[in-house]
Amino acid sequence: MEPSHVVVMGREFVCPHCEGRLVGIGTALLNTPGMTFFGLDWANRQARVLTCAACGHVSWFAERPPQE
Ligand SMILES: [Zn+2]
Repeated sequence: MEPSHVVVMGREFVCPHCEGRLVGIGTALLNTPGMTFFGLDWANRQARVLTCAACGHVSWFAERPPQE
């Protein structure tokens, strides 16, 4: 998938490490029993994963997919 700019909750996502704005978008299943401890059942056991195209920093969003 081509890296792209992503807007989360009305703000463009910026890498917290290098301030890069191009990220690859992926999903990950939160299918380990331990995740229930963190109250993530509401997230349908799926997280949105943004990987910085510049430095590779991975950011997780346990919420609905961000809008592009
Ligand atoms: Zn980065």
